[in-house]
Amino acid sequence: MSQNNSRPPQFDLIAGSVPLDFINTLDDRFSSEPQELLKTYADLTRFAEDTGILEQQQANHLAHVSQDSPREAQRILHAAVALREAMFTVIWAMVTKKPVPHAALNTFNEYVRQAAQHSSLVQVKENFEWRFDDARNNLEAPLWPIARAAADLLSSDHLEFVRACASETCQWLFLDVSKNHRRRWCDMTRCGNRAKVRNFYARQKKQR
Ligand SMILES: [Zn+2]
Repeated sequence: MSQNNSRPPQFDLIAGSVPLDFINTLDDRFSSEPQELLKTYADLTRFAEDTGILEQQQANHLAHVSQDSPREAQRILHAAVALREAMFTVIWAMVTKKPVPHAALNTFNEYVRQAAQHSSLVQVKENFEWRFDDARNNLEAPLWPIARAAADLLSSDHLEFVRACASETCQWLFLDVSKNHRRRWCDMTRCGNRAKVRNFYARQKKQR
């Protein structure tokens, strides 16, 4: 099997922001039956591969390693979900202009600290960038760039452009980088068109 061929993504990456795409891995979050898209550790490495936060080869390697340590893999999967929910709670509070719960921010900060412990500044030509440890066999590796990206988003000017999809049954989060900052849908084909069709039939009904 070639390691270089990129596969079609497993996840719908519509957010334009890794931490928001990660939050969207709890689908139908606001419904009575949320759908967990991170069911196994391999889903986590696949997310890392789809978003490019890990090289495909590293993602495959970790998925492979996880098979030999199922309990550790399960523990990290739970940690990933805990990180995701802490990120969601903090960001959602900001989006809805509510006070940020301390517990969620504390939990989130634990992951930010872990990410910092596993990263260092590396010089790249005229600049520096954060590089994560080459932890080939550390199953926690996918969590570090996610926590870092979330911290970067929260401390950036982009935070005010985090939106929830206008479809009530969707409400996926995305970063609205459109010129006028008036994007309403996570994805026009996914939710925008469905809303258009609904409006069309609603108008037809009225006309009858
Ligand atoms: Zn949507």
